Amino acid sequence: MDTVDAVVIGAGVVGLAVARAMALAGQEVMLLEAENAIGTGTSSRNSEVIHAGIYYPAGSLKAQLCVQGKALLYAYCAERSVGHQRCGKLIVANAPEQVAHLSQIQAKARANGVDDLALLTRAQAVAMEPALQCEAALHSPSTGIVDSHALMLSYLGDMENAGGLLALNAPVQAVQLRQGPASHPHVLVMQDGTELACRTLVNSAGLTAPDLAQRMTGLAAQHQTTAYYAKGNYFTLSGRSPFQHLIYPVPEAAGLGVHLTLDLGGQAKFGPDVQWVESKDDLQVDPARGDAFYAEVRKYWPALPDGALQAGYAGIRPKISGPQEAAADFVIQGPRTHGVAGLVNLLGIESPGLTSSLAIAQWVNTALTQAGECA
Ligand SMILES: Cc1cc2nc3c(=O)[nH]c(=O)nc-3n(C[C@H](O)[C@H](O)[C@H](O)COP(=O)(O)OP(=O)(O)OC[C@H]3O[C@@H](n4cnc5c(N)ncnc54)[C@H](O)[C@@H]3O)c2cc1C
Repeated sequence: MDTVDAVVIGAGVVGLAVARAMALAGQEVMLLEAENAIGTGTSSRNSEVIHAGIYYPAGSLKAQLCVQGKALLYAYCAERSVGHQRCGKLIVANAPEQVAHLSQIQAKARANGVDDLALLTRAQAVAMEPALQCEAALHSPSTGIVDSHALMLSYLGDMENAGGLLALNAPVQAVQLRQGPASHPHVLVMQDGTELACRTLVNSAGLTAPDLAQRMTGLAAQHQTTAYYAKGNYFTLSGRSPFQHLIYPVPEAAGLGVHLTLDLGGQAKFGPDVQWVESKDDLQVDPARGDAFYAEVRKYWPALPDGALQAGYAGIRPKISGPQEAAADFVIQGPRTHGVAGLVNLLGIESPGLTSSLAIAQWVNTALTQAGECA
């Protein structure tokens, strides 16, 4: 059986960032990906927004890692010429009772260290975006967009240049966690029956990370989580976008509301909505859901023409809290949490996981090299 220093399971944006950081820190890293290419999971089915860090509860990992990750990501993209744009976003109140909500959002953002939000009157907002209908708005200048595929390729290049190895078509079936002292390895059992040993293991398997953790012999039951899937459907706008900024309604319970995002080519899409599903493979977009999109979008863009929305794509949020529960924070389980040296499970890495990827990688790498607390 071959032995390597470190294995990262899952080549999405987070696994790539973690493997990159470990390789740059001098470890011998192998990144195992079940599919035949990197980034085919949630990492290629999202809004590609660099989030400012506005909505998350103060002190949460989401708040902390989003704000840190945003700064790291802008610096990284600028340094490595990864396509991105600091286009800014407007959060719009469409009813008088929502206006007070904007101040609450601003206060929440401040508690997270995001102090650049500006409250705008209707006139100020419309001066920025003439097609917009609103009562008032919040302007977030540090929100942006990024080319997530270019970002993942750049992370991969860094990892490989530092000596890391990517193995595609390499699904991990189960893990026998080390028994005894830290010098003993973890043993990975691949789907084809072959085995691989490693001293450090990071489970960054996205939607299947909770299932994979359940297939780790030696991980106590109290550290297991249940996976829930909240699908987000997108509809794309045919024709030119009337907006230069991202436009978000005041957020809903399980998502951020049907918002408008732009890609780097200036094309607009609306979504994601929230549809709880049973299967992580349920990725078809039902065109009938478009009716609800027209109604939601016309609250802030009344001129949306009939027939302008086309069913786009869907992504599934890797939830670890169910529809009736409060949204869970990121869970980054390290050795002091579960008592297994050299193991990190990344669970519930939903939005803002893309924004936070470099900060998550730092968190995991530091915790592992210090053999310390991760969660
Ligand atoms: C609709 C939607 C919109 C979002 N919008 C944003 C946004 O605008 N901004 C933002 O910051 N975040 C956003 N996110 C969140 C962001 O997309 C995710 O946090 C991020 O992509 C998670 O990356 P990951 O690497 O953890 O997971 P994934 O991209 O899912 O990667 C996991 C990888 O593990 C592989 N894998 C799984 N099981 C195994 C196994 N047993 N063996 C080997 N490999 C395995 C999979 O094939 C996959 O490639 C959004 C998410 C959704 C669903």
